[in-house]
Amino acid sequence: MSVRMPAPNGAILARRREIVEALRRIVPGEGVVADATELKPFETDGLTAYRQVPLAAVLPQTTAQVAAVLRYCHANDIPVVPRGSGTSLSGGALPLADGVLLVLSRFNRILEIDIDNRCAVVQPGVTNLGITKAVEHQGFYYAPDPSSQIACSIGGNVAENSGGVHCLKYGLTANNVLGVEFVTIEGEVIRLGGKHLDSEGYDLLGLLTGSEGLLGVVTEVTVRILQKPETARALLLGFPTSEQAGACVAAIIGQGIIPGGMEMMDRPAIHAAEAFVHAGYPLDVEALLIVELDGPKAEVDHLLAVVEGIAAAEGAVTAKVSQSEEERARFWAGRKAAFPAVGRISPDYLCMDGTIPRKELPRVLAGMRALSERHGLAVANVFHAGDGNLHPLILYDAAKDDELERAEAFGNDILRLCVEVGGVLTGEHGVGVEKRDLMPEMFSEDDLRHQQRVKCAFDDKHLLNPGKMFPVLHRCAELGRMHVHRGQVPFPDLPRF
Ligand SMILES: Cc1cc2nc3c(=O)[nH]c(=O)nc-3n(C[C@H](O)[C@H](O)[C@H](O)COP(=O)(O)OP(=O)(O)OC[C@H]3O[C@@H](n4cnc5c(N)ncnc54)[C@H](O)[C@@H]3O)c2cc1C
Repeated sequence: MSVRMPAPNGAILARRREIVEALRRIVPGEGVVADATELKPFETDGLTAYRQVPLAAVLPQTTAQVAAVLRYCHANDIPVVPRGSGTSLSGGALPLADGVLLVLSRFNRILEIDIDNRCAVVQPGVTNLGITKAVEHQGFYYAPDPSSQIACSIGGNVAENSGGVHCLKYGLTANNVLGVEFVTIEGEVIRLGGKHLDSEGYDLLGLLTGSEGLLGVVTEVTVRILQKPETARALLLGFPTSEQAGACVAAIIGQGIIPGGMEMMDRPAIHAAEAFVHAGYPLDVEALLIVELDGPKAEVDHLLAVVEGIAAAEGAVTAKVSQSEEERARFWAGRKAAFPAVGRISPDYLCMDGTIPRKELPRVLAGMRALSERHGLAVANVFHAGDGNLHPLILYDAAKDDELERAEAFGNDILRLCVEVGGVLTGEHGVGVEKRDLMPEMFSEDDLRHQQRVKCAFDDKHLLNPGKMFPVLHRCAELGRMHVHRGQVPFPDLPRF
């Protein structure tokens, strides 16, 4: 583990028994886990190279309990790490030895389905797929669909601004969340947005979405639900090179077509997925595009022909259109299972997540091949091609000397390359622990200080999810926060509002 976390506070560790008792008074019954063996399942998230057993795990069931836990931790200077289902791939839910892990998985009720207003109000522990399951019998669905949707929670999706294959056309979590209730570290319960389409004042809902558990704990989410399209058909397109597949993606978007989803896999990923789920993928190609077109049947039929034409012009050697709902689901099943499929061919893998301007796809793929040779590690590529969001999976064996360090160095070089071509460090998995120390590659010292001022406005003691996102923590006082001491404000001659 090469990313250092804040050193645990010995004074908090020494008070562990007293803290656990206090937490049990707030969340009685089975709501507090403090036994070493029972805490084991909470020691990591989807970034399994990093592990740390928390001081205690607390599983509240009401907003009042969340507020009371946060108020207690704030008063006692105890760090808090929020956790949904623990599928984060950037280590966002990695616990701290001196911190409380606040697990929202028992907040798992659908509170309201409001078809007239095209929305659902749910608790944060409801799984992403659980929302679609709750509304599909009425012909609706929740559009953002991370591949982890069977397990990940909507609270985690809000915190990471998660994406999925259908986000190209329908937007990320940020575009599909209408409102939240959240609790600050001081225990205040705040509501932002709601069923209405616009909100007054600053876009604090936008600020909270993607804040990775550093600004508040989400206790309720209102999401937009969409009517299922009349038709959806998926097209498998095989190419002799990744560069040609990349050029095809750019040509489709360039012609003004926004598919429901447009995903790309390279040869290692195609073979791993096909062996795992038998999706019907061609095995004699270097790159595969899955393009889904949805909408009224006449429009879909027309666009399928246009896309097939573009693909042929860009050098596609295979084209296969789904002939039934079952076949369409099978085409997607391979893509959605690509990560676990790669897990079958390598003892360990690191899943990276960077975003680049689409036209840079060929350059970045070539650069990645060179990096793979330089670091001596293989890479399988699965990505949201339409969004330019790459997911290189770096294959390594943690049991072998220095392979994790080499995999991390390789991953860092890929992300540097993304920034170099005008892209960004993350598309949807967040910064967390994984990309924390790379933030200066993208942001200046001034940028980072401004971001931390926002953090200070919500959590001036840095108790919510410390050690994530910011490479260096500054005290809020250093960042210019006004400190009132015994009723005396600094610079009393300045006009106040
Ligand atoms: C196999 C696999 C495939 C994946 N595919 C995708 C994909 O296609 N697209 C994608 O975007 N992601 C994907 N992910 C990553 C992950 O599933 C998402 O980031 C997801 O949103 C995390 O949700 P979670 O409930 O597991 O959150 P956790 O992992 O528990 O937490 C993630 C972050 O959210 C914070 N958090 C959690 N709940 C709350 C809350 N209620 N209030 C405040 N903060 C909170 C945590 O502190 C942490 O920083 C994948 C992961 C895996 C393992």
